[in-house]
Amino acid sequence: MAKIDVFDCCLICGSSQGLERHHVFYGSGLRQLSEKHGMVAVLCHRCHRGGHGVHFSRTLDLMLKRLFQERFEEEHSREEFMRVFGRSWL
Ligand SMILES: [Zn+2]
Ligand SMILES: [Zn+2]
Repeated sequence: MAKIDVFDCCLICGSSQGLERHHVFYGSGLRQLSEKHGMVAVLCHRCHRGGHGVHFSRTLDLMLKRLFQERFEEEHSREEFMRVFGRSWL
């Protein structure tokens, strides 16, 4: 797993080609909350919207959500996370 704060390469495969921003928590208003709280992962097009990408892989989706929740909880509490995002993925 690449370092989470590196923005010049894909968080999953490390590619620097065709990078896109992915809102880690999305759907029913969560997208805006992701933007506001910096829950945005840089992914290449393949890892983002490809056949095995995060939007089509439950496993990958969950992995990113847990990773970003853990990062959030390094500075905030679980209660605060749940207050903002409505539930916990951990
Ligand atoms: Zn990638
Ligand atoms: Zn996305």
